[in-house]
Amino acid sequence: MSEFDPSTENLNVLTSTQTVIKDALTKLGYGQEMYELLKEPLRVLTVRIPVRMDDGVVKVFTGYRAQHNDAVGPTKGGIRFHPDVSEHEVKALSLWMSIKCGIANLPYGGGKGGVICDPREMSFREQERLARGYVRAISQIVGPSKDIPAPDVMTNSQVMAWMMDEYSRIREFDSPGFITGKPLVLGGSLGRDTSTARGVAICIREAARVRDIALAGSRVVVQGFGNAGSFLAKFMHDAGARVVGISDAFGALYDDKGLDIDSLLERRDSFGTVTKLFKNTITNRELLELDCDILVPAAIENQITLANADKVRARIVVEAANGPTTMEATRILTERDVLLVPDVLGNAGGVIVSYFEWVQNNQGYYWTEDEVMNRLEDLMVKSFETVYKTATARSIDMRLAAYMVGIRRMAEAVELRGWV
Ligand code: GLU
Repeated sequence: MSEFDPSTENLNVLTSTQTVIKDALTKLGYGQEMYELLKEPLRVLTVRIPVRMDDGVVKVFTGYRAQHNDAVGPTKGGIRFHPDVSEHEVKALSLWMSIKCGIANLPYGGGKGGVICDPREMSFREQERLARGYVRAISQIVGPSKDIPAPDVMTNSQVMAWMMDEYSRIREFDSPGFITGKPLVLGGSLGRDTSTARGVAICIREAARVRDIALAGSRVVVQGFGNAGSFLAKFMHDAGARVVGISDAFGALYDDKGLDIDSLLERRDSFGTVTKLFKNTITNRELLELDCDILVPAAIENQITLANADKVRARIVVEAANGPTTMEATRILTERDVLLVPDVLGNAGGVIVSYFEWVQNNQGYYWTEDEVMNRLEDLMVKSFETVYKTATARSIDMRLAAYMVGIRRMAEAVELRGWV
């Protein structure tokens, strides 16, 4: 058992992120004023979106768009459709986007949006009306050189297509650079759909290298079978690893001999649900405690906490989801010498290829898949190296190191602009 009391653990993703930002700024030599500015987004818009449902009744949805800081460039980050979306979650997610863009050296600050809804219970046309209504509601504060949205939990390229179309109608000119993660024919980038998982796979490879673990034959557990988790399971399987566990929101599957990932991919629905088709499932909690070499939380926040951090048996944890491990759990894993690659580094592949998509839209010139992949590889490897070296040189955990690397450029830009 750990020495900490789980009942006192801080599960508020915003306040716990603020603690790490404060530590990172202090270590970089910045004072209270810089922290006061960077601890919250500069702007948060709350919107109410009326949507006529298929049965003729109007339902009003609540949504948010948070823009953390635009000292470095326009803000950037996805939009999630999920019942648990809240203002403080969207704010924290926008802070994380800033750190991510800083680590990968992208000319952006962080942004994030969300709508409280459950798209699994909405028809295709209801989702379209909601997506368009959300864009109409936030259109004043977003734009290709202001704030550029993208997909996130339970939104996909189709949702991006509706949003891009709505924005272009409002502005009365074609605006592919307004949003990334679009379908290819509408100005999407080759490789964007698998980019988050590619980036995670690169981090796993690098982490395994520094920890002397051979990927071939290693046992991998992936929590979540959405965009990041499902492609990642496939990449790990193809790299010769044994994917022994996967899960979705309803349960988890386990097979010590390795799961048949190709057949699971074929059978999953568009939200990544697949375990409902099986009888012998285990719980998500049991999944995280399975004996394995590499654990990848690729679902939602607060999955590895004080309650289970000392039961995680993996030697490497790479966060593909945003915020799956609490700060206290980070400390426990680090003390137990588990190499934790934090979300802001682990899943940066998504926003990196979003940046490539935006550059291609601005140039009107499109790259080959190889070009996209080579540049992604380059940026991910550099990002991993910088964070890993900072962590080892300063004897700090990888999350704090990532925040130091990620926030430095923003603080510099804020100073140069004379804001602080
Ligand atoms: N939603 C993704 C993330 O959390 C991607 C953001 C983007 O592509 O802008 O990083």
